[in-house]
Order: sequence, then C-alpha cells, then structure tokens
Amino acid sequence: MSMEKRELIYEGKAKRVYATDQPGQVIQEFKDEATAFDGKKRGVIAGKGKVNAQMSDIIFRYLEKHGIHTHHVKLISENELLTWWLEMIPVEIIVRNYAAGSLAKRLGYPERTEMKSPIVEYYYKNDELGDPMLAREHIRELGLASDEQLDEMTSIALRVNEILRPFFEARGIILADFKLEFGLREGRILLGDEFSPDVCRLWDAETGEIMDKDRFRRDLGKVEETYAEVLRRVSEEQAGVAASVYVSPKKGVLDPAGQATLGALKSLGYEEVREVRIGKYITLRLEGVEADKAEERVREMCERLLANPIIEDYRVEID
Ligand code: C5P
Repeated sequence: MSMEKRELIYEGKAKRVYATDQPGQVIQEFKDEATAFDGKKRGVIAGKGKVNAQMSDIIFRYLEKHGIHTHHVKLISENELLTWWLEMIPVEIIVRNYAAGSLAKRLGYPERTEMKSPIVEYYYKNDELGDPMLAREHIRELGLASDEQLDEMTSIALRVNEILRPFFEARGIILADFKLEFGLREGRILLGDEFSPDVCRLWDAETGEIMDKDRFRRDLGKVEETYAEVLRRVSEEQAGVAASVYVSPKKGVLDPAGQATLGALKSLGYEEVREVRIGKYITLRLEGVEADKAEERVREMCERLLANPIIEDYRVEID
C-alpha cells in the first residue's frame, strides 16, 4: 500500500512532520541540521538524518518487542519514519545512569560518576524559558500532566533504561543518559520523539570515547563518522537472532546430579527442598534467518544434538 506525503504540519530543529493520507499517522523527516545550547550553536552533521531515523526505527522496534508502547509504525525511507500522531506532553523526561553535562554541574560530581541508582528528571519543553528543570509540583502547577500520567511516564522511562542498558552494553556501548518525550493517542500514553545520538549520551565501553552529540557540542571532531559507527553497531546484531535453550531432565527420569544436590542441600539444613533437577542453559546467535525460521531451526538442533529428547525436556526462546 503506497502512502501519500501531504502538507508540512510542524518543523522543529531536527525534524519536519508531515500529514499523510493515513488517518492518525504522520511522517517524521529527520534533518541533518544540528543545534546545541538552546540553538546558539548551529551546524550540519552530514548523514545525521539518516542515522537518527534508522536508529530510532531499530530502538523503537526493540522497545515494542519488550512491551513498551511507542508511536512507531515503520521506516519508510532512509530518513523518514511513519508514526502515530501524538498530542505531545511538553515535559522532557531524562534518565541518567552516570553524571555528565548539566547533572555533573548541578551535583558537583566529576563527569562519568556512576549513579547509585538511575535518576529521573523532568524538564519543561519551552524554548522561551530555556527548557528549565521542573519538580513534580511545578508540573502540577502548570497543568502539564496529571500525577497519574507523570507516574506512568516515569515508570516507562525506567523500564526503557532497563531494556536499553543491556542492549547497548552488548554492542560495546555505555548508555550514560537519555531524553524521552511522551504523547497521547486516544487517551493512552505512548513513547514518542526519537532515540538517537542526538538525545542520549553513549560512551565506548572499551575506550571511553564519546559517541553522541557531545562530539558536536564540544567540537571533538569525527562527528559524522561517530554517528555512522553507532548505527553500524546498533544494526549489526539486529541482523542476527539470539536464541536461548533451556534443557532439563524429564520429570521421573533419574537425575543423579539433581539427586546428589538434593541430598547435599538437605544435609545443609534446607529441609524444605523437595526436588532438584539440574539441566543446562545454552545461548545461540543465528545470522541470516528470520525469527520464525530461527525457532524452527533451533528446535531441530535440540532434537538432533542439544538435548536428548528421550530423557530431557527443552524450551526455546527467540529474542
Ligand atoms: O544537558 P543535559 O546534561 O541535561 O542532557 C542530558 C541528556 O538529555 C543528554 O543526553 C542530552 O543529549 C539530552 N537532552 C536532549 N534534549 C534536551 C536536553 C537534553 O535530548 N532539550
């Protein structure tokens, strides 16, 4: 089904939003223009629009797969996403795992100090006021969101952090902080905006190299190359499929290791233990197969090699 791009609805610093002929859906076109420090610093990062659209596509699809509801529909060209139109809530939610930027200044911490637990902050999306930080009471006073909505956005933001920290870690990147924006569609809160090096801080896990918009803000050079490298790392593993296989002895089958462990636990005083079965956990990574096909293939591997189907049960999970 082809879709028609209609009139420009809104133009921001990094994106243009267009109407479409699909009810409730808009096109977000990502630009190469970059701004920092409330628009005081301006420039162009060649290829940024493409990287940010494609990275957002990958991240939003990953989040959806992990139960986060977003505005994402699909990538429709190299720098355009089709999304649901949201009535945006003008509160930026920032989650921080490490001190950097304004937090390092506010708390007087050295950059890269790890937080004891993730910190959530709220900012007023208001250019005239310079996006000031808000307390919950300010949000209530300004009527920007209800307490319930704020709680929901906060818990989604923390959940996103739990999902994305290991995602980036697996790709050799530390997720130091990020900014989210939410909006309403038919009364429901959805995650909107984008997820790209423009709105988060990413550090190479090995070298500590800065891999985000700070390269532009601080004139560190190699901005284009770094954006491209982030996209490469984020998409590479996406091409593969991760599978987990849990193998355990069938109920009623003699399991000497389980029996021995049961005996040992009892002699240590864990009288309540009734049964111990010891199995194995196998992880696999497959390339060049779709998730459906991957599951079928891994099941076949279990039948033929990874498990002994006569005496063992197995369970396959595809990520
Ligand atoms: O500047 P600050 O340290 O408060 O930024 C924290 C994080 O939020 C950074 O990853 C920054 O890129 C992001 N941010 C943003 N949009 C803003 C403010 C901050 O994406 N208006």
